[in-house]
Amino acid sequence: MKTNKQNPDFLCIGVKLLKWFSVHGRDLPFRKTDDPYKIWICEIIFQQTRIQQGLNHYHRFINRFPDVQTLAEASSDEVLLHWKGLGYYSRALNIHKASHQIMENFGGVFPQEYDDILSLKGVGKYTAAAVHSICFGGHLPAVDGNFYRVLSRIFADDYDISTTGAFSHFSSLALLMMPLGKAGEFNQAMMDLGSEICRPRNPYCEICPLNADCTAFQLKKVHEFPKKLKKIKPTELQLQYAFVQHGDHFLIRRRNESSIWKKLYEFPTEIDEKYKTYELDSTEIKHKLTHRNLTVIIRHFIIKSQEEFENLAEEGGFHIVDYEQSAAKSFPKPLENYLKIRFEK
Ligand code: SF4
Repeated sequence: MKTNKQNPDFLCIGVKLLKWFSVHGRDLPFRKTDDPYKIWICEIIFQQTRIQQGLNHYHRFINRFPDVQTLAEASSDEVLLHWKGLGYYSRALNIHKASHQIMENFGGVFPQEYDDILSLKGVGKYTAAAVHSICFGGHLPAVDGNFYRVLSRIFADDYDISTTGAFSHFSSLALLMMPLGKAGEFNQAMMDLGSEICRPRNPYCEICPLNADCTAFQLKKVHEFPKKLKKIKPTELQLQYAFVQHGDHFLIRRRNESSIWKKLYEFPTEIDEKYKTYELDSTEIKHKLTHRNLTVIIRHFIIKSQEEFENLAEEGGFHIVDYEQSAAKSFPKPLENYLKIRFEK
């Protein structure tokens, strides 16, 4: 591959980007810290959430878990609770496991080497490169969907972003543009340009600092990039739950580590024949996961006898809770929505 020295034109684009970033970069709270722990947490949170929505969650999480040790000492229930509203709960569990790794393998100090950061649970190449470049000066592009989109447009590059080779292809392109010693700023500048200017739909090309260098813009073909040829068809999945209620109370249990929604709480999935006479109604909730379309059917049973209700809880190993108590636990989104509908009418 060519080095930066051999590509002054590409480097020039990177320099323009940094100049724009120095004036227009977003004033975000986590940009005022050089603590790798906080930057790691925010990288994970903002991978899945818009900045405005995620800020409150970020502050709430960091206020409760200000450092790796505090996080490692917390229960997974509490970590999940402070992740509530962000979805993708497996990421919270991975962060928690990674905090244990940092305590056990790195003496409680956030690792500085790229490979060590990458060895943490739930940390992929993007996050490792972002943390390494921003906190430790590593010369690596943090390639994500923003990079794919911006670079494919600038170079009118038709490399299929749905293929496994896309990461290394766009990493090589980004390296050609990245000024030495500026990787952290460059990565953040690409994130800001991708989310504020070079948006997936209706990019603001007229005010883009790179429009003179952008081939797709010059050719009036912006809408043709990035190229994504392979569409993953989501699978359809139906789940059945029983909302078993007695007075203000209902039954829940904690999911195990297997399958989706690890360690979150759920309602019973088995419906005992003898309780069918107590059925009141059923609710259907549609929910989309990354590659799955879920239909969640929740049947509502009212058990009149307290003794029967308690027996049912004991036989099935369920907890009995009321709505207030359930608010201290984390449920999959469709079940959380169901509880809101039922109790906040
Ligand atoms: S000119 Fe338009 S398409 Fe090109 S990088 Fe800028 S915003 Fe993106």
